[in-house]
Amino acid sequence: MAFRPPRLPALAAGILSASLACTSPGPPESVVTAHGIVRGGDRARTLEVAGWLEEVYPRVVALLPGARPQPAEVWLMPSLPDQATSRGGGLAEGVTWFDWEDNPARIQLLAEGRNLRFILSHELAHALLGPSWRTIPGALAEGMSDLLAAWINPDLAPAIRADRLVRASAYTGGLRLRLVGNLGRLHPGRPGPLETGTWLLVSTTGSTPAMELEELLALGFSDLNTRRRSESLPDYYGVGFVLATRIAERQGLEGILALCTRARDLGHEVVPPSWVLRAAHLEDPARWQETFDRMLGKEELRALIRENPELLVGAAVGYFGPSQRRLGGEEFLARVRPRIQNRNGDTVLLAEIPAARQALLSLWAERYGAAGATEAP
Ligand SMILES: [Zn+2]
Repeated sequence: MAFRPPRLPALAAGILSASLACTSPGPPESVVTAHGIVRGGDRARTLEVAGWLEEVYPRVVALLPGARPQPAEVWLMPSLPDQATSRGGGLAEGVTWFDWEDNPARIQLLAEGRNLRFILSHELAHALLGPSWRTIPGALAEGMSDLLAAWINPDLAPAIRADRLVRASAYTGGLRLRLVGNLGRLHPGRPGPLETGTWLLVSTTGSTPAMELEELLALGFSDLNTRRRSESLPDYYGVGFVLATRIAERQGLEGILALCTRARDLGHEVVPPSWVLRAAHLEDPARWQETFDRMLGKEELRALIRENPELLVGAAVGYFGPSQRRLGGEEFLARVRPRIQNRNGDTVLLAEIPAARQALLSLWAERYGAAGATEAP
């Protein structure tokens, strides 16, 4: 069964190579920090983001091997240019512009973006990449920026990991989760509870991407960003994140940098895809499904349910509802204890996530009435 999550966090951020032909002076408010300048339309927001720049910039420099520190120019915008927001796997909330010499010239962020500190961290990871990173595949660069931003923003990390894993699972047909509940305890004295359930396949797309992963990974940083403006590419944030995470777990970000410098020394324009897959221990596509599934830990599972309550509640009500319709919603939660299990066996009760509890009670009331469907035909 494939599901299309209706409300995954839109945290994808874009990066573009382009000339800055426009010499607009930028938003009116400005705050100068030790690491660059922040411009925005609203004084309070500009000050807030300037504080984050002070905090986040030194951390990116410390975590990123081969960084090229240089003052940042950050603009807070009411909207982002079309080129930054179209295609490429999600709604962009930030973009880093490069000049003709490939020097980052400006970071533009959506002023009212939901997770601006994360997006700022992600864009800084692009802007501070030194020349030794030039051969990095575009998808891996996005994944590495997300990974670094997740390290710097641990409060958001489980939601980011869950989102990126679901996106990556387009290459495996979806993430496998198990829906479980207790049946058979409706009468005292009956043995039970009998645990029963079904597998769910959670996917953002419902279909496998048209482009092979190797083909996607063969696209360098600027190639990827040129092509995404003229054609529909598969979502590369998810697989990029999985690959960056798997390599960094074994060798740190230095392991990714080592791939880039070796490729450069051997005359490759882009790190060969086979090197990336080998470094991530993902050479065998038959192992991807289980590997991706097992990367979704308990915290990520909680985040996935919290961010997509309707999706998983819909599955639970659809599966258990017909046989349990005589119960009221609260009674259903207490007796059946519907829950979601990841591939590692971690379990999260739908009732323990407030958004899921609320979504379930309202869907139940809509289908079966507040006190159950005892009067229904
Ligand atoms: Zn990016």
